[in-house]
Amino acid sequence: MTTSAELIEMSERRSAHNYHPLPVVIHEAHGAWVTDVEGKRYLDCLSGYSSLNFGHGHPKIIEAARDQLDNLTLTSRAFYHDQFAQFCAGLGDLTGKDLILPMNTGAEAVETAIKVARKWGYEVKGVEPDQANIIVMEGNFHGRTTTIVSFSTDPEAHDNFGPYTPGFRLVPYGSAEAIRQAVDPNTVAVLVEPIQGEAGVLVPPDGYLSEIRELCTAQGILMIADEVQSGLGRTGQTFACDYEGVVPDIYVLGKALGGGVVPVSAIAANRDVLGIIQPGQHGSTFGGNPLACAVGIAVIELLNTGEFQARAAKLGEVLHARLRELIGKGVVEVRGRGLWAGVDIDPELATGREVSKALMARSVLAKDTHGSTIRLAPPIVVSEEDLVWAVNQLADALYELNTA
Ligand SMILES: *Cc1c(COP(=O)(O)O)cnc(C)c1O
Repeated sequence: MTTSAELIEMSERRSAHNYHPLPVVIHEAHGAWVTDVEGKRYLDCLSGYSSLNFGHGHPKIIEAARDQLDNLTLTSRAFYHDQFAQFCAGLGDLTGKDLILPMNTGAEAVETAIKVARKWGYEVKGVEPDQANIIVMEGNFHGRTTTIVSFSTDPEAHDNFGPYTPGFRLVPYGSAEAIRQAVDPNTVAVLVEPIQGEAGVLVPPDGYLSEIRELCTAQGILMIADEVQSGLGRTGQTFACDYEGVVPDIYVLGKALGGGVVPVSAIAANRDVLGIIQPGQHGSTFGGNPLACAVGIAVIELLNTGEFQARAAKLGEVLHARLRELIGKGVVEVRGRGLWAGVDIDPELATGREVSKALMARSVLAKDTHGSTIRLAPPIVVSEEDLVWAVNQLADALYELNTA
């Protein structure tokens, strides 16, 4: 058998170093637990950056994928296929929107939203050619394409990838007033993560999303909510915007929409916005393929039961209550909503990476983000007992670091 160490060495030798993985080689996973090639088990507290909200190998999702594999996997959009209508109707109903435009990755869906907003700006709002601007937030994460990294404020994501796409205005996250001041007659959209995930699970002040909604409506600007990571049950609601009862003009969805099986993303909007796209103007060979739609339908059916949202809300209370007890014991701050937490470790004590490694030694897989923040987002199927156990592992790891 090839050992973990050998597989890691071989992986590093022949792959670009665009990631810095924890030294674990996963072979198998079910529910919230993964097993490495040596047979050691770990509780997954990352969930593929919230792609695995329903756990690894959810029976309903796997069944849908298996059935579809036997029938039809790809047609391209040159033809209709028998899963497409139900996927679009299901996601339209879940979002409350008229129309769906399916893509594959989150970044592609964000790109789609940007293209739609610009085209809408020129054709509906009447912005002068090539003058459209979109207001974006400092600390944003919307993916890795050249246009998207053009307005990233993370030097690693941004630097040396120019020349950059113009037409974006950065404002501080959390300030509706800053958006108001940045708006001009050429502003076509505000693009916002209802909770900033990669930035460290930053929850904006109460009322922020409703203020953006009001401002956009008053000024004739599209509100685009990137719910790729925050959406589909993670926060205890279907969408993180639901906390303020806010409905954006465009939802951007991805990650968990693919059930942890295949990349599935989409934007959802009403006809007055998404109706501006005509044949030939946008597309994707794989977007909306039969396998993606079959998996997506299974995901939507799970969300329609409401069980996952309720479970994330209930377990989220347990998670946050336990984490708050660690403040002053190696933890400086805890943020988040539902089964999603950003835990700032005292930088004097350890880096996020060191804590992630200490957790890994204790059979918990979590990932640091930006220096000293640990992100915890276990699959929503995690048991309460396992969840509490995982936080206890963090408490013990911090205690050890404190007394070392
Ligand atoms: C992950 C993520 C994306 C990009 O999704 P990919 O599938 O990696 O392209 C976009 N927006 C947010 C908020 C994300 O978390």
